[in-house]
Amino acid sequence: MSETTDTIAAIATAPGAAGVGIVRASGPAVPAIAAALLGHAPQPRHAHFAAFRAADGELVDHGILLLFPAPASYTGEHVLELQGHGSTVLLDALLARLCELGARLARPGEFTERAFLNGKLDLAQAEAVADLVAAHSRAGARAALASMQGVFSRKVQGLLDALIALRVHIEAAIDFPEEEIDFLADGAITRQLAALRAQLAELLRETRRGVRLTDGLRVAIVGRPNVGKSSLLNALAGRDRAIVTPVAGTTRDVLREAVALDGLVLELADTAGLRETDDLVEAEGVRRAQAELARADAALLVTDEAHAQADLAFFAALPASAARLVLVNKIDLTATLPHAETRVDAHWLWASAKTGAGLDALRTMLKELAGANAGEGAFSARRRHVQALQTVGEHLDRTAQALAVSRAGELAAEELRQAQQTLGEITGAYTNDDLLGAIFSSFCIGK
Ligand code: GDP
Repeated sequence: MSETTDTIAAIATAPGAAGVGIVRASGPAVPAIAAALLGHAPQPRHAHFAAFRAADGELVDHGILLLFPAPASYTGEHVLELQGHGSTVLLDALLARLCELGARLARPGEFTERAFLNGKLDLAQAEAVADLVAAHSRAGARAALASMQGVFSRKVQGLLDALIALRVHIEAAIDFPEEEIDFLADGAITRQLAALRAQLAELLRETRRGVRLTDGLRVAIVGRPNVGKSSLLNALAGRDRAIVTPVAGTTRDVLREAVALDGLVLELADTAGLRETDDLVEAEGVRRAQAELARADAALLVTDEAHAQADLAFFAALPASAARLVLVNKIDLTATLPHAETRVDAHWLWASAKTGAGLDALRTMLKELAGANAGEGAFSARRRHVQALQTVGEHLDRTAQALAVSRAGELAAEELRQAQQTLGEITGAYTNDDLLGAIFSSFCIGK
């Protein structure tokens, strides 16, 4: 079963956690280690109450010993779990004892990496394990649990199946060149491709929501100098983070603030005003603001009554997928009542960063964008998954072009082959060691 020959061990509970502490080991030496600790071979999946002793026979702790023989375990290897008292000193001593008996200290994420290598989890599920542990809201934890159980992976697989079916269809046409022209011109292939692109668009939408549930919503606050961007950031963050001054153009750098709204995370970035400028320092700020917009999930344009329409041009650098919010600020000066409207260009809100009027409506809207109402079926995801799906979309666009313009079956088939490979990178069917290293090293030790 296992491709690894060594046995790893780690403390699997949070450092300093009170109550029960768990030390876990995985690998071929586990049955021998377990027998040495217990004095006889343990029964599989049976809770043995045991005295854990050091090499010289001194009692380290009393606790529960559990053996999960391969392959029916988390990693797919023999796994040993020792439940002792949640004291760091005792857990360290237990871990040292496991190492004396033949284990070595596990690297971060190594248990889950072995589960992946042994086919217990695919890569997207393995990532969801880390996201579950790191979740900062119930909605985020629920979504990570869904991904861990394979909800996201099954959708990727569904897309992959449809893609392979189309590829087979087109490759069959190439193999019978005398029929190729008719075959490729056939509406069936076009319809199949259209359905595939629709399926991808839906999955991309759900995956973006999954990233927001996992990572939080990235909001770029933009607008001309002095409209109240910093004041708004402070009002949302609840303290004086950005310097508010009445001098135009003072917010030169990008200020970031993570704000938790009912457990949902917003990563707010207050950018310099995006106006053309001769001031070098400020020009750098403008460049950063544009970069900030390009990576945002949502842009919050802060403006006032006089400039609202003209300022919509700020949205130019924004990706099509990002949400657009317009906040008409300083309504306390114009005696306008706070209200909201949904228009084709954006969601509009009238508020005052100074008095706080209308800001609750903004908070509600931001929470909704962050996924507060993500109900049944929501799953967690990562930015690398979104990127992979976008790349698949580009391949499908080129497939459509190849078929529409030149009826070039070979080109279309090659694009689909690459799309298939890119999809496989999400679940780990195609990977490289760098990617695996980057993913698993971000785990905590013991997972
Ligand atoms: P920024 O350059 O866009 O970051 O703008 P600031 O947040 O620094 O605000 C510029 C000036 O407008 C400051 O004097 C703020 O106190 C003022 N200001 C911000 N929001 C409001 C508001 O809603 N009403 C009023 N009356 N003044 C505001």
